[in-house]
Amino acid sequence: MSGIEGKVIAITGASSGIGEATARLLAKRGAHVVLGARRTDRLETLVSAIRAEGGSARYRKLDVTKRDDVESFMGFVRAEHGRIDVIINNAGVMPLSKLEALKVEEWDRMIDVNIRGVLHGIAAGLPIMQAQRSGQFINLSSIGGHQVVPTAAVYCATKYAVIAISEGLRQEVGGDIRVTVISPGVTTSELADSISDPVAREGMREYRRVAIPPEAIARSIAFAIEQPDDVDVNEIIVRPTAQS
Ligand code: NDP
Repeated sequence: MSGIEGKVIAITGASSGIGEATARLLAKRGAHVVLGARRTDRLETLVSAIRAEGGSARYRKLDVTKRDDVESFMGFVRAEHGRIDVIINNAGVMPLSKLEALKVEEWDRMIDVNIRGVLHGIAAGLPIMQAQRSGQFINLSSIGGHQVVPTAAVYCATKYAVIAISEGLRQEVGGDIRVTVISPGVTTSELADSISDPVAREGMREYRRVAIPPEAIARSIAFAIEQPDDVDVNEIIVRPTAQS
């Protein structure tokens, strides 16, 4: 199946920011979107809004750090729709701080959500896509997956990992399954809310002045999906024009 209309698309971290904007856009373009995140009140409101505009949307509570949760989320998608065409591994957290602050629990959280969460999505979705002999993974990395800046060592490490995992996946299963990395620059969302370190929080406030809206990232995701089946867009970097 080419294009976006009629595709079954699972989105992790759909309760705000880029995931939410992507859900709205893809549903408007005729996809069946299935949304996962921990804040189900947000998902319920979003699903109602999409349905009110005639779109197809469902949601299920999801914590991507738990493998069982991700397995049952993907099982739910397949039970509802009979297949999964696209998995958007979007859930992410970014509690920035300098390494010397030793916020080890926050390092663990970034590793758990940003790396393990993506791997859990692949583990749950790959057998389904291999059985279908078609599908597409869209994994959210970042400009931070290409360059490291102070306070962002661990976050960047997780986003470098997303690029490495995606490239390995593409090399191994590229015959049937498409693999796309989306690497946004600074984008308006709730991502910086998780920063507990005052220095990093202040630095981010300055950085975010040039942020682009999450709809800009949603459009790049739609572009990767709507290409013909024999065209695999491997990475899109989208940053504000004013971001260095
Ligand atoms: P938001 O904070 O707005 O959205 C993050 C989403 O991830 C939320 O829906 C949140 O939902 C979800 N999430 C967090 N932890 C978990 C978990 N354990 N299980 C399931 N869902 C989880 O930020 P963005 O929209 O900006 O982030 C989306 C992606 O884009 C991330 O991977 C981020 O790293 C990446 N990115 C963002 C950039 C930006 O400037 N905004 C730049 C580069 C990359 P809930 O809390 O309800 O579970």
